[in-house]
Amino acid sequence: MTVTRFPPSPTGDLHIGGARTALYSWLYARQNDGKFILRIEDTDLERNSKQSVDAIIDGMNWLGLDYDEGPIFQTDRFDRYKAVIQQLLDEGKAYRCDCTTEELEAVREQQRANKEKPKYNGKCRERHDVSVEGSVIRFKNPLEGDVVIHDRVKGDIVINNRELDDLILARPNGVPTYNLTVVVDDMDMQMTHVIRGDDHINNTPRQINLFLALGAKLPEFAHVPMILGDDGKRLSKRHGAVGVMQYRDDGFIPQALLNYLLRLGWSHEEQEIFSREEMIDLFKLENVNVAASTFNTKKLIWVNEQYIKTLAAEELAEHLEWHLDNQKLDISNGPAITDVIEAHRDRAKTLKELASNIRYYYEDFSEYDEKAAKKNFKTATPGILQNLLDKFKQVNDWNPESIESVIQATCEELELGMGKVGPPLRVAVTGTAMSPSLDVTLNLVGKERSLKRLEKAVAFATAKYAES
Ligand code: GLU
Repeated sequence: MTVTRFPPSPTGDLHIGGARTALYSWLYARQNDGKFILRIEDTDLERNSKQSVDAIIDGMNWLGLDYDEGPIFQTDRFDRYKAVIQQLLDEGKAYRCDCTTEELEAVREQQRANKEKPKYNGKCRERHDVSVEGSVIRFKNPLEGDVVIHDRVKGDIVINNRELDDLILARPNGVPTYNLTVVVDDMDMQMTHVIRGDDHINNTPRQINLFLALGAKLPEFAHVPMILGDDGKRLSKRHGAVGVMQYRDDGFIPQALLNYLLRLGWSHEEQEIFSREEMIDLFKLENVNVAASTFNTKKLIWVNEQYIKTLAAEELAEHLEWHLDNQKLDISNGPAITDVIEAHRDRAKTLKELASNIRYYYEDFSEYDEKAAKKNFKTATPGILQNLLDKFKQVNDWNPESIESVIQATCEELELGMGKVGPPLRVAVTGTAMSPSLDVTLNLVGKERSLKRLEKAVAFATAKYAES
């Protein structure tokens, strides 16, 4: 069975790069009816935080990247790591080393002077008298031969063992290192595919040697290129590499963010928008780009807009709920949210924007948008609005058609174009200069609210021009 994993170190939020490798691993497991494991690599006791673990789990949940096992915490597995290290020591595949920092630095200095690649010189490899106290445990990396990574993204990569250090498996305090824990876990969890960022590619040959030393079956490797900012530099907060939950707060739909991340570094013909099912069906490791990708906020917003335009209104309503709560908008007293979504989905780039655009359906406003009122309330306004108001009062069947015919009738009676009647009406009923077409808007606002607002606007505009 295919088994993949996402093993973040809980030292911060789940950010864009991590979310993308999680997505690729998740997709690969799902398309092969496999298992996807969430493993928390929390051996760095000083840099870990519970807050970060929570942020990662929240991020995974929000994105809908469900896992079949986990979260598994490495700190719960220290005994197992110790046992494996002991096994390697017993089998002569690892050794204790008490070289001091000064000694190691002197060796490196010498190597640099000789124009050699700096690495541990193997001084303690064959010693048996190193005391436990204060010593590290190193892996006896083979001295000869090549390690070949058959990378599913990058192709074959060959590294000679002479290039590789005897890596440290445990520190003097006994805490195992990343390369040891990751191999023990991937072995014990029967990982078939390791899909991760290519910042780990230097670790892979070392890990392969460790797998072999432990007699474990090698997983397949796929190294995904980094994501860069639009200035070609490594992605940082400045470029939008914030935690994924920030994207929720900013009004992105999780599926849109996944869609963007999928396309960032992978493509399928010219297709831009992928349903969850299509993602699972079409994703291929071999089609992951070999070159780094550039993060582009504009494109992400475009993808989000497409989702807002096309997602079923009921589904959008579910995503919108968080924003309505966050913006303290109670929608229980007003039109059906799905109807409002249908009317507004073409004019919002984000859910945050959508939520803030629809307040006037549910709440009365105390002030008009200043610019809108200034531009659209003229001396003729009270007369126009009064005329509309009188006619609207007579309407029994409040619907877009009846509303539209009132507007037409007022235009005709006052011999004014739509351009003179529509804008003040819109400001009167919505408080703003932007809304869907007036028949749709007034229909959703409802008769009672529309009449009240027109009365208020007549009074407001009258007072305004009486003053001047
Ligand atoms: N904990 C490592 C990281 O967050 C995992 C790397 C791996 O996938 O092996 O970078």
